[in-house]
Amino acid sequence: MTDGCWYDADIDRVIITEAQIREKTAELAKQVSADYASVEDGLLLVCVLKGAVMFMADFARALGRHGPAAELEFMAVSSYGQGTTSSGVVRILKDLDRDIAGRHVIVVEDIVDSGLTLSWLLRYLASRKATSVEVVTLLRKPEAVKVSIPVKYVGFDIPNEFVVGYGLDFAERYRELPYVGVLKPEVYARP
Ligand code: 5GP
Ligand code: MG
Ligand code: MG
Repeated sequence: MTDGCWYDADIDRVIITEAQIREKTAELAKQVSADYASVEDGLLLVCVLKGAVMFMADFARALGRHGPAAELEFMAVSSYGQGTTSSGVVRILKDLDRDIAGRHVIVVEDIVDSGLTLSWLLRYLASRKATSVEVVTLLRKPEAVKVSIPVKYVGFDIPNEFVVGYGLDFAERYRELPYVGVLKPEVYARP
């Protein structure tokens, strides 16, 4: 843990350290690079905002060391749902800027929880006629899965707890933390 940051006082415990994230991201990038070595028109990375923004930035840079070339795209979706759970009913807040027909797409996700959002997104991308669609996610909660989806690249399986940091928020806060952790219970009780 970094010493002396304001947010350390709110964290109950760190689940994944900054060093673990760095090491795993490099590993995932190497795997993706090897699997797509022969694609000719490069990869299209689709980041699902906002949670995946840190992972997208680091994963894209790690992939850049090995190739193939990648284009970076961003989507924003909202799943209607109460508080910390998602419902699977998804609304597009920001769509892709370009046509993905005929492209090899990799969805870059922060976390696969119930899988409902991702399952919707994969159907959407398939309907836009991508040649292939795979998913790389930093985190997955195996115990929370409601729909089983094929996630080819997984960083870490974590317990079924609400986590923050490295892009993941609680009420739009804590995204800037360099690690993934669990908040102290009293943080949720604050007005
Ligand atoms: P799902 O549809 O798989 O249940 O989750 C969709 C989104 O909910 C994730 O991409 C993520 O943004 C958010 N989410 C799921 N689990 C967590 C968590 O433990 N912490 C935070 N901060 N967000 C989560
Ligand atoms: Mg996400
Ligand atoms: Mg959130």
